[in-house]
Amino acid sequence: MTRHDIARVPVSQADFTSIRFFAIPLNVRFRNITVREGVLLEGPSGWGEFCAFDDYDDHESLPWLRTALEAAFLGWPAPVRGSIPVNSIIPAVGPEEAHRRAREAQSATAKIKVADHPDSLAEDIARVEAVRDALGPAGHVRIDVNGKWDVDTALKQIPILDKAAGGLQYVEQPCWTVEELAAVRKAVDVPIAADESIRRAEDPLKVAVAGAADVAVIKCAPLGGVRRALQVAEAAGLPAVVSSAVETSVGMGAQVALAAAIPELPYACGFGTGSLLTGDLVRPERDLNPRDGAVAVPSAGLVPDPDLLDRWAMADPARLQWWSDRLDRVLALHNAEANG
Ligand SMILES: [Mg+2]
Repeated sequence: MTRHDIARVPVSQADFTSIRFFAIPLNVRFRNITVREGVLLEGPSGWGEFCAFDDYDDHESLPWLRTALEAAFLGWPAPVRGSIPVNSIIPAVGPEEAHRRAREAQSATAKIKVADHPDSLAEDIARVEAVRDALGPAGHVRIDVNGKWDVDTALKQIPILDKAAGGLQYVEQPCWTVEELAAVRKAVDVPIAADESIRRAEDPLKVAVAGAADVAVIKCAPLGGVRRALQVAEAAGLPAVVSSAVETSVGMGAQVALAAAIPELPYACGFGTGSLLTGDLVRPERDLNPRDGAVAVPSAGLVPDPDLLDRWAMADPARLQWWSDRLDRVLALHNAEANG
């Protein structure tokens, strides 16, 4: 267990000190789910969270499991900073509500969802203006299109929204494909960030080679752990924004460890997804929810609270069986590669 590549470390079920399945309702529908399910795994180095989304097959789930195994069996590289600035998230709401949310978040950076529907431009302009007003001239305003524009729409609307924002920090995923992102990036001055285009370890390199983005939004779970994500970010050579994937604070610990260890972190990170969950597995005084626009890097790994583990324990026998089988299969896949 001394090697520092979790993909090379075989793990058997007997190596876990504890395996706890959880199910926590969301307060909004997200990716078509209303309950966040997963499993916490405890090993000699601490607790990890395996929470690949249901629609991921075993192969896609493997890096998510490795992220949990890294926490449980290797721990994380040393942090180079003690606090991570985070952005607020402004959903597709009216301008007054957007203004209120941007102020209350106390973040210097706001990420605004736009392109909620095909005729949204007037609403998007009003929302972006309201958020700039709330943050003042020193704040950073970015927009997230979630890939919904075609190239023509992007080229038309980015300059308009850039003007409304008094300068955008960047536009996240204006179009769906890497080729479209590259075409937009070539034609506009506003920096482009790739998010949905980066879902697997090879994606950041593809994005960089295609000249498709100025910024890479990365999550360590789909990349296979903190160390692997650091390598991928370095190889891509793009500034990274680290983002969470609706984990409990235990799983969020890996994302925060990545943001804490990355050599350069010029932008605020996206760690606000804990607010989508109606509960957490770590006590509130130790959780990783942002406060005053930042997440404090914990000095040790995150430890779940026994009462909260009981409270949010997965109760549905069919779901328990499903997760237990999934853990067996994906662990077998991990070991086949670790031993191979
Ligand atoms: Mg995004």
